[in-house]
Amino acid sequence: MSAEAYVDGVLRGDRVVLARAITVIESELPSDGDLAERVLEGVLPRSGGSRRIGITGVPGAGKSTFIDTLGLHLVREHGEKVAVLSIDPSSPISGGSILGDKTRMERLSMEEAAFIRPSPSKCHLGGVARRTRETILLCEAAGFRNVIVETVGVGQSETAVRSMTDYFLLLMISGAGDELQGIKRGIIEMIDGMVINKADGDNKPRAERARVEYSNALHLFPMSPDGWSPKVLTCSSLTGEGVPEVWESVLEHRAQMKANGHFHDRRRRQALNWMQELISLGLEAQFKSDPQVSARLPLMTEEVRRGHMSSFSAARELLALFHPARKGSE
Ligand code: GDP
Repeated sequence: MSAEAYVDGVLRGDRVVLARAITVIESELPSDGDLAERVLEGVLPRSGGSRRIGITGVPGAGKSTFIDTLGLHLVREHGEKVAVLSIDPSSPISGGSILGDKTRMERLSMEEAAFIRPSPSKCHLGGVARRTRETILLCEAAGFRNVIVETVGVGQSETAVRSMTDYFLLLMISGAGDELQGIKRGIIEMIDGMVINKADGDNKPRAERARVEYSNALHLFPMSPDGWSPKVLTCSSLTGEGVPEVWESVLEHRAQMKANGHFHDRRRRQALNWMQELISLGLEAQFKSDPQVSARLPLMTEEVRRGHMSSFSAARELLALFHPARKGSE
């Protein structure tokens, strides 16, 4: 299939072509690199128009149930199209998927107006994040006005999701022990909203108490430069109660950010960071494929692992072997 055929299919909103185009983007095959680039170039003028929402929370907080319910609300009550992508860097310890392989978002996945794509896992976060960003562009070009990017609260994945979305939401549950449930302070500083999920049945009063506590705790953080103070809401993803209000808050944030110019500032900053990240990823790929570097890298890795060589001198020696600029002019 040609790049033009991919672009046409995506712009028509053809979900089968969209899914195949994403596979091209995710491909590790060098032969697909050129095609991926041309498809991206082709859809770029029609991308950028969605509400990009990031969602994080510890496993079991109810992320997939929440997205299922929110997505259905958007599709059925607002006639919206919703794409759901996930960033699930394999667990650094087990090597396995953290979000899990179970069928997620069962109701939403049955909807014509929804598109759910699991994480392109099994590679490091930089690669996963790059592909997810490009997938957002494809979904936007295919007419999805809402793109939800989900991640699990580990490592740097929140930072990655925050850096590609307009609104970043933290999903919590009440009464799970310590106040912030192991959520790092740095994440609290990145969020635009917090939702205490599972506010149903006997748990309702506790969820309400947690809402007040978190609201108070958030007031202790310095005001964000965009002038928005993150709201704390409660909801039940099981009954749907409170979910429309979460969406209202997302829209309120968007309207306010567009009015004060911070929406475009954030997108521009993200574009700059993205460029820098692409440069880093590109350099790393060139470095690793350099014949002199790749000949020495396994040995050096082993030397450092055994403690026979310092990380510092190994890195210095490898970098000294790498001369991309000189090669370019040869
Ligand atoms: P994830 O790991 O964050 O994606 O969490 P899941 O969406 O898989 O939910 C974990 C468990 O919590 C499941 O058994 C859900 O049925 C349950 N759950 C999710 N949301 C709610 C809720 O609002 N109320 C109640 N009572 N249970 C919920």
